[in-house]
Amino acid sequence: MKKIAFFCIPAHGHTNPMLPVASELVKRGNTVRFYSFDAFESKIRATGADFVSCEAFLGELTEKEEAGLKNVSTTEMTIQDIRITLSMDAFLDEEFKAFQPDVVYADSVCFWGKLNAWKHDVPLVVSTSTFAFNQMASQYLKHSSKELADMIFGLPKISKELKKLKPYGYKVKNALSLVQSDNKTDSVVYTSEKFQPYSESFSCHYVFVGPSVFSKTEPFKEKERPLVYISMGTVINDRPDFYAKCMDALKDENVDVIISCGNALDISVLRELPKNTKVYPYVDQLDVLSRADVFITHCGMNSVSESLYMATPMILYPQTSEQQAVARRAKEIGAGVMLTNDSVQGIRSAVLEILNKKSYTAGAEECSEDFRSCSGPAGAAAFIETAPHESEGFDIIEELNKTSGKTQILYWLLAAALIVLFGLLTNWKYIWIIGIAAGVLSTPITKAIQNAKYNSLIEKCENKRKK
Ligand code: UDP
Repeated sequence: MKKIAFFCIPAHGHTNPMLPVASELVKRGNTVRFYSFDAFESKIRATGADFVSCEAFLGELTEKEEAGLKNVSTTEMTIQDIRITLSMDAFLDEEFKAFQPDVVYADSVCFWGKLNAWKHDVPLVVSTSTFAFNQMASQYLKHSSKELADMIFGLPKISKELKKLKPYGYKVKNALSLVQSDNKTDSVVYTSEKFQPYSESFSCHYVFVGPSVFSKTEPFKEKERPLVYISMGTVINDRPDFYAKCMDALKDENVDVIISCGNALDISVLRELPKNTKVYPYVDQLDVLSRADVFITHCGMNSVSESLYMATPMILYPQTSEQQAVARRAKEIGAGVMLTNDSVQGIRSAVLEILNKKSYTAGAEECSEDFRSCSGPAGAAAFIETAPHESEGFDIIEELNKTSGKTQILYWLLAAALIVLFGLLTNWKYIWIIGIAAGVLSTPITKAIQNAKYNSLIEKCENKRKK
């Protein structure tokens, strides 16, 4: 029997999938101590785990900081993560001494959990509530210019904050090393190998357990008329404009509508509700999804996983790059359509498209079967109990990194040679054209070479496993 310390940030999307895992570990006779925040206390206690409140360490936020967090600014989230880690330092030193955990199970962006596992030399298992993102899977992340600006201009601030960690005994190379999925860290991912992009590039330190949910309910779609469920999740859900458009779009259709609009919104803002519509601040989402025929979703990883688990096709309306990646995968497997036009008319035709074409339901049903065949919370629990895990000695990403450096050097040597040749032939007048062309083509060409190399590494790896 093991003593396991759980750590998570104060967010439903990150906490929810850890709960069935905690429950499973407790059932197997382990002691689970869950370090979290007051809003999650009752949910955590219901799993049988001990709840330890970290509420006192959250600190007061300025309006600007609060707005940054609400807008999912990477810079603000990183800075707050570091600040909370520092304010919890003495408290967690005492806790680690007293509890002496055998394993730490920490959310992938919960710095204080990960950093304290390393500092106190306790095996760490990471809970990944999105896709696992290494350099191959990151190709699914298309950052908006706003997100890129936030990351670039935030770098000096972040590196200044990171330096504060060192005197407390926390060893950090850079911010990326704290959040990126590497092939040496034991990690649980709440999706299937099939749904995870480039799952074959992850080492045996990863286990893909499928959605971590309490409900084993089978989807039950029989009813008088279709049900459309709408939710923008629990973070950026203050969207009265969007809910009003959805209601307008569906008020004269032969459907029932349920909207979960979050606590940030005063329901009376949504004018008079159409007869076929019900609005709630929070619903039992799995229960609603088990009956729903269409889900208009912001594409949070949990929402999409739960929707697919319940065989409900989706209208994909992502708001961040991470959600965009999840949406892209859901579209690729044929379980949804992108909401490219979010006008009243656009929403109505997307709903009708899903209701009238059976292929979307079939795509979602196929994925539901795949998810239900995964090991689930029991698989996660077994993986945590047996941590740390051994390496298999061959790391595809490490191999890829070795060649991608060489490819870059080779590419630019070739480009320089071409520029000189062109300069000699044209009297150096137009070499800028070749210079610009080399710059523009560098990304697609090196990417194509990297992908070709990746495919050959995968083949090599499979042959090795077969032998
Ligand atoms: N959720 C719920 N009821 C609601 C809205 C959301 O139970 O009315 C849950 C949902 O089941 C999911 C989580 O909140 O587990 C939302 O996580 P997700 O990753 O989809 O989005 P986020 O809120 O993190 O943006």
